[in-house]
Amino acid sequence: MNSMQYYSPNTLDEYQKIYSNITGKNILVFAGGTDLMVGRHELPQDAVIIDISGIAELKGIEKKEDKIVVGSCTALNELLYSHQIQNNIPILIKAIKTMASEQIRNRATIGGNIGNASPAGDTITPLVVLEARIEIFSPESNEIRTIPIEALFRGPCASTLQNGEIITKIIIPLRKDKGIFCYFRKIGQRNAMTITKASLSAIAKYSSSKIEWIKLASGSVSPVVKRMSITEEFLKGKELTTAVINEAKEIIAREISPITDIRSTKAFRVLITKNLLGDCLYYLIRQQNI
Ligand SMILES: Cc1cc2nc3c(=O)[nH]c(=O)nc-3n(C[C@H](O)[C@H](O)[C@H](O)COP(=O)(O)OP(=O)(O)OC[C@H]3O[C@@H](n4cnc5c(N)ncnc54)[C@H](O)[C@@H]3O)c2cc1C
Repeated sequence: MNSMQYYSPNTLDEYQKIYSNITGKNILVFAGGTDLMVGRHELPQDAVIIDISGIAELKGIEKKEDKIVVGSCTALNELLYSHQIQNNIPILIKAIKTMASEQIRNRATIGGNIGNASPAGDTITPLVVLEARIEIFSPESNEIRTIPIEALFRGPCASTLQNGEIITKIIIPLRKDKGIFCYFRKIGQRNAMTITKASLSAIAKYSSSKIEWIKLASGSVSPVVKRMSITEEFLKGKELTTAVINEAKEIIAREISPITDIRSTKAFRVLITKNLLGDCLYYLIRQQNI
């Protein structure tokens, strides 16, 4: 009978050494385990688990001049209670507040939410509109590379990471513009402890009654989370009249490609996405009028 092997390195260097001593095995990177343990009975029995949660260099939140750098093993609650994130990246706070429970958020990491590559991963849509970049460590070449977050996703719960590669950092650029509007809302079965049926993240700059720019990403309605660039382009430079908002809702409905699954139907996901965009744009108008 095969049995799983388990390693828990304390440094990236140790991780690399463990990796180089393992050949031809299925490596399973384990951070908080809150996704992995749910599916533990389906894990390959010959998998080699490498628990990266003890690697100190993968933890923490650091503000640099024009960016915030978050270690991949930073727990969701550390982000939620961080003044740096609260003051600089409110959209991420809005998203994390809706995720799981206090207990799960103490274990669940941001790197695990991204690494799981689910189109329903709630930190992903905010990070996509923020144009975050992901730093990846390859134990094969011992090198670090950085890619835009959108390039990480290959399909539902499938990433472009190679065997053994790990996300080390999430790099979130800070915008110079003041007064940026942000929006995150998800619709699920309930209000708490719920997996997203559909969600929307947006950041926008609105001035002189017009949208200067807007960045939109819908969750759970396409095989991978991506920017809604046709809808963004349509809204750019426009005044938010009822007619414009209604047209934008039709455009986003054509831009997404939802499926029917155990959580929702395709038709309902289309309807929610249209309504979320309407809610977002009317909220934007109200914010400007305060
Ligand atoms: C009750 C419950 C409620 C939940 N609610 C929500 C919710 O509301 N919204 C939501 O989005 N999710 C939710 N989740 C899912 C889960 O908690 C999150 O996705 C969490 O962020 C995963 O992080 P983790 O550290 O536990 O990942 P793990 O389970 O350790 O790993 C998840 C996946 O990512 C990979 N991985 C982990 N870290 C890295 C890394 N640094 N580099 C590369 N790959 C990596 C692993 O190999 C694995 O494939 C919920 C889970 C439970 C059990």
